[in-house]
Amino acid sequence: MEKEFDSMKIYDTPQKNKVDFEPYNEGRVNMYSCGPTVYNTVHVGNLRSLVNFDVVGRSLRYLGYDVKRVVNFTDVGHMSSDADFGEDKIERQAERENLKASDIADKYIHHVVESFRKINVLNPDGSPIRENIDVKNISKSEWAELGWARATDYIPEMIELISLIEGNGHTYETDQALYFDISTFPEYFEFSGQKLEEKQVAVREDVKEDPNKRHPADFVLWMKRYGKYKNHMMHWNSPWGDGFPGWHIECSAMSWKLLGEQIDIHTGGSDLISLHHPNEIAQNMGAFGHHVVKYWLHNEFVFTSSGEKLSKSKSNALSLKEVEELDINLMALRWYYLSSSYRAPMRFSIESLKSSEKVYLSVVNRLKQLYNQKEGELSQEYLKHFKESISDNFNTPRILALLNKLVKSDLKPEDIVATAFEFDRVLGLDLKKAVLQKIENGDEVHSSEIKEEDIKRIIEEREKARKQKNWKESDELREELFKRGYRVSDREDGQYISKVH
Ligand code: AMP
Ligand code: ZN
Repeated sequence: MEKEFDSMKIYDTPQKNKVDFEPYNEGRVNMYSCGPTVYNTVHVGNLRSLVNFDVVGRSLRYLGYDVKRVVNFTDVGHMSSDADFGEDKIERQAERENLKASDIADKYIHHVVESFRKINVLNPDGSPIRENIDVKNISKSEWAELGWARATDYIPEMIELISLIEGNGHTYETDQALYFDISTFPEYFEFSGQKLEEKQVAVREDVKEDPNKRHPADFVLWMKRYGKYKNHMMHWNSPWGDGFPGWHIECSAMSWKLLGEQIDIHTGGSDLISLHHPNEIAQNMGAFGHHVVKYWLHNEFVFTSSGEKLSKSKSNALSLKEVEELDINLMALRWYYLSSSYRAPMRFSIESLKSSEKVYLSVVNRLKQLYNQKEGELSQEYLKHFKESISDNFNTPRILALLNKLVKSDLKPEDIVATAFEFDRVLGLDLKKAVLQKIENGDEVHSSEIKEEDIKRIIEEREKARKQKNWKESDELREELFKRGYRVSDREDGQYISKVH
């Protein structure tokens, strides 16, 4: 095996540091990513996590690791407040849409998977996502082969895992639920990094719901169809009565069944650091008596320009569909995410997305100019920096900078193109497709070559607006051109125009 990944460094949240990456088994990586709760549409905020960790999966494979990766769909038990006693997000949406809970899950699994496909997120097994997956008729094992896991398919496994935890004396039962008993796991607060007092505030509401819950940090493993949940639509039999699983046990059970007791990398959004992931650690220790996960990776959030988290509930997040309606290339959104480290908070605005699109298109256009159908060779020098950047905790901003430098370099055109396409195996920006498509669609031409009178007039007006730095007007005129079937891109020597097909 090649030695390329000997010096890989990754940032481990509990160690608060970049550390040497040493998987349990040399050359192999088991990776689990907490996936979406499937009750609403995908937006510019929550897509980030999927894109970031798609690139992590691609990177590890590129470096030669044998990667086994699983991403779940949470389709039961995730409460509106992340605490134990909120409203089940799926059931709440089912009421709103007057549909069965399982139909809501089907509908949104279809939606999220289609959205992932559009932005070039691969199946967790590394294969491309097929168009229009028939969610209602895909079996648990078919999902598993692709690396996806749907929580409601794993109820028996969850019961089995809870029974192990119970057998080891880490649980207690009330009328309402079976709880993980945190007093049996004193190291818990080391992992959560949260103070007990903070938990006490967070779960005061829960104590009202169940006066027999002993400790604020105890959490539900199995919720009974009792009290507030006596009419819960989704429910299964269990040794603790009719009910449904707690949110945290789902990921522990699915990752255990599909990846085993040794998981190298577990990922999720930074919102999972203080509760969901410490609870998973507690469950793993409770069931197996040892840690399961070696490294924890978390992506930061996308915020509005005024610093609010983008979220569906605040209606401040553009949906993927809205991005498409703005006629922004979805690969520009992908570029936008990759232009920051996954660990850096991002501030979103349409302008920032448009500037990502501009850089993306300039790279595509440059490659198109260079493309000459000759077989090129990979530039070993660029490739070395590329691999070093991947190995430095998946440093995508540095890779994009390298790509920009590459396309402007004086290497042989065919070598530049070959090397850029090689980078794209990790970046997933569809460079080859975009370059070939553009060529098929006919070249861009300099604005001076345009013959149609009214298009010419708009271009001239736009030139004037740009000289006066009137960006608003220049953007409006760009829209105007687009409506008439022309796309414009700005370069140092003026505007370039191509027909949209
Ligand atoms: P949701 O399905 O909206 O609950 O979000 C699923 C996951 O996406 C969350 O657990 C977060 O890790 C992540 N997420 C949600 N909103 C954002 C955001 N604004 N920025 C980055 N990640 C987010
Ligand atoms: Zn999870």
